[in-house]
Amino acid sequence: MKAAILENKGVMTVQDVPTPTPQSGNVILKVKAVSICGSDISRYVKGHRMYNLILGHECSGVITEVGEGVSENLIGKHAAIIPLVPCFECEQCKAGRYSACHTYTFIGSRQAGGFAEYVEMRETNAFILPEDLSFEAAALIEPSTVARHILDLGNFEAGQSAIVLGAGSIGLMAVQWLRILGAKLIICTDVVDENLATARKLGAHVTLNPTRDDVKAEVKRLTGDGVDVALECAGSPQTLAQTIQVTRPRGNVVCGGNQPPEASLPLTFIEDLMRKELRLNGCFMSYSAPFPGHEWTETVARLQDGELDMDTMISHRYPLTAATQVFEDIGARRIAYRKIILQPEN
Ligand SMILES: [Zn+2]
Ligand SMILES: [Zn+2]
Repeated sequence: MKAAILENKGVMTVQDVPTPTPQSGNVILKVKAVSICGSDISRYVKGHRMYNLILGHECSGVITEVGEGVSENLIGKHAAIIPLVPCFECEQCKAGRYSACHTYTFIGSRQAGGFAEYVEMRETNAFILPEDLSFEAAALIEPSTVARHILDLGNFEAGQSAIVLGAGSIGLMAVQWLRILGAKLIICTDVVDENLATARKLGAHVTLNPTRDDVKAEVKRLTGDGVDVALECAGSPQTLAQTIQVTRPRGNVVCGGNQPPEASLPLTFIEDLMRKELRLNGCFMSYSAPFPGHEWTETVARLQDGELDMDTMISHRYPLTAATQVFEDIGARRIAYRKIILQPEN
């Protein structure tokens, strides 16, 4: 089969590799659509813990084969990849905190992922889908579940106000979930105006560009004491510091973006956090009990009733064989993009 292999930092090649055959308890998914995640890009640009590896975890397709012990009724079913592979046995797994599993692996970062014609996974990692969902929309279930999980960790409730800092794919998904779950005010910030236009289309009431707008002053003008919930989805120290400034006393802040580990924050950050008695919450992946969690089932329900708009999220579609070029272009910042879908069959 054809697969895009990450061979080294900045080196991805499309190669012929052996097609997997299912081990006991596993299924084979024939990939129909796989989306490129920011984390795939960072593994390509900054390097990764292991090579050679097939990346890709935002992925949908059709089950074509099953291993021993798996019902043959699954053959022909549409499915999305649930990328986290927890052990289901450690203390954290038993408590339903699967992303804190002591020995998890992850499809597309620690084992072969979906930038390929076929991908093998445990039966429990195939999220069976209704057949009326498009494969493209289904490939974007995983990033949607991350945004839904972020809202949970921010203790978001209907009728609250929220700010989303960063209108990348997770930020845009968070805007959609805030709209769906009844936020009374959705503010979104980004340094790229085109991203802000997309955020408005997806439900943001107010958008601010910090290169022009005074975000702190505008939030104060709109809310008085600040928003109920601030969601950091940009992964920058500036936006993280900003969350503390724009959140009301006893409000919730969620860290959703990966921060550059070499950066640091002024400790005035802590003073503001203390004075406002804020709750600062981390977010890692998108899972809750029962596995994989309501984040996943709710995403499918909102896709079926048309509330989640995935079409607007997608900016490009390419055949899988274009992966080398696409990653080179992204790495060199030659293209502006939202979600990019790779299609192995084209
Ligand atoms: Zn992802
Ligand atoms: Zn575990």
